[in-house]
Amino acid sequence: MRSRRSRSSPPRYSGFGLIRRGLTGTSWPPAWRRYEPRRRYDVVVIGGGVHGLATAYYLAAQHGLTNVAVLERGYLGGGASGRNTAIIRSNYLTPEGVRFYDRSVRLYESLAAELNFNAMFSQRGHLTLAHSDSALRIMRWRAEVNRLQGVDSSVIGRAEIASLVPSLDVTDHPRFPILGGLWHPPGGIIRHDAVVWGYARAADALGVHLHQDTEVVGIDVSGGRVRGVRTNRGQIAAPAVVTCTAGWASTVCDLAGIELPITTFPLQAAVTEPVRPFLDTVVVSGTLHVYVSQSDRGELVFGAAVDPVPSYSTRGSLEFTENVAAHVLELMPALAQVRILRQWAGLCDMTPDFSPIIGPTPVEGFYVDVGWGTYGFKAGPVAGEAMAALVATGKTPELIEPFDLARFTDGRLVGERGAAAVGH
Ligand SMILES: Cc1cc2nc3c(=O)[nH]c(=O)nc-3n(C[C@H](O)[C@H](O)[C@H](O)COP(=O)(O)OP(=O)(O)OC[C@H]3O[C@@H](n4cnc5c(N)ncnc54)[C@H](O)[C@@H]3O)c2cc1C
Repeated sequence: MRSRRSRSSPPRYSGFGLIRRGLTGTSWPPAWRRYEPRRRYDVVVIGGGVHGLATAYYLAAQHGLTNVAVLERGYLGGGASGRNTAIIRSNYLTPEGVRFYDRSVRLYESLAAELNFNAMFSQRGHLTLAHSDSALRIMRWRAEVNRLQGVDSSVIGRAEIASLVPSLDVTDHPRFPILGGLWHPPGGIIRHDAVVWGYARAADALGVHLHQDTEVVGIDVSGGRVRGVRTNRGQIAAPAVVTCTAGWASTVCDLAGIELPITTFPLQAAVTEPVRPFLDTVVVSGTLHVYVSQSDRGELVFGAAVDPVPSYSTRGSLEFTENVAAHVLELMPALAQVRILRQWAGLCDMTPDFSPIIGPTPVEGFYVDVGWGTYGFKAGPVAGEAMAALVATGKTPELIEPFDLARFTDGRLVGERGAAAVGH
């Protein structure tokens, strides 16, 4: 892979640099620079989340395309990329999904070194609990599909679950006793802000322009192809425009005259006060609509399924906190005294088959990388890499062929609901 740095790009982070700056009191320069937007770019990427930034980074790093702009209407990582619960895994249900997410896990494994940014990827294992025979049946199916794709995943029983996560109530007493689980050792969590900033810094170093407070308000299309975008900071011409706008995907695609089969739902999460480390896996229960992991700071991070009603609201609700607390206590009664510190919400762009929409559109030069629902953070690297290859070469990489927009009219859905509804 080519890695070029422009003359005034930020310095490399290193232990030596940290000591030198600590001793001399020299502050670190900003991680990325501000520019006035050019009137023309080779590629405009809309959305400064992990997908937009990864796309821009791989365009520059792997294809030498540096006349690229990322347009973000707020701040980088201000969308779902900075609001998620940072779970990474590849134990999906369809072979297409497993192959795709597995490539992302592999990119995540080397990301900190590649971007020179400590993203703290912790592959602590991912455990999905089964509370019914039908859930166990689906897990066996998933484990088989995973293993056929070379992904480490197996169904385990109560005794093994008890030794992996001693805090779980594995007795017959709960309303929904634990019958078994799907154990996926490569899964884990990563610092989501670091991933966003790492991609941003590396893209900037290669010459990509990152424009915050820059909202796309129109997309120019004529003769069946995209010509550029209109923003609150003026018009920008571009022969290629990629939208990575997640929860806002439908509104942005509307501007290009493209209707997406996407509905936007809020998704909430919460963290507790920090407690002594006791949980070193990610635990998910689809039946109870809840998952929990412990951050490196000791906080317990809780999440659930999307809110029941579509909306663009990012407000938290008491109903969510009450439900999530009740369900976590069914799994881990010992947490009764732990206090929830804060909660928040982000937007999720849900598709009918719980798989993304990534690839070209009927408007030539206009590409979509959307439909990430509740599971798109883990896909940032692979989606960015594949989208960059598509834009740079005009050829759709095999890995994303199944996820094109045309599948909704051709009837080729990639049904991932069984592996994506709550598990993120
Ligand atoms: C609470 C929560 C928990 C989650 N947990 C997980 C998890 O554990 N694992 C996982 O894999 N996924 C998870 N997800 C989903 C994941 O966060 C998203 O799928 C992913 O971050 C989408 O990334 P993105 O870059 O496509 O979008 P975003 O990060 O949302 O970025 C889109 C950006 O587009 C910008 N934008 C929108 N319209 C315009 C416009 N007109 N002009 C310019 N900019 C615009 C927005 O401001 C935004 O910053 C979770 C999501 C939430 C909300």
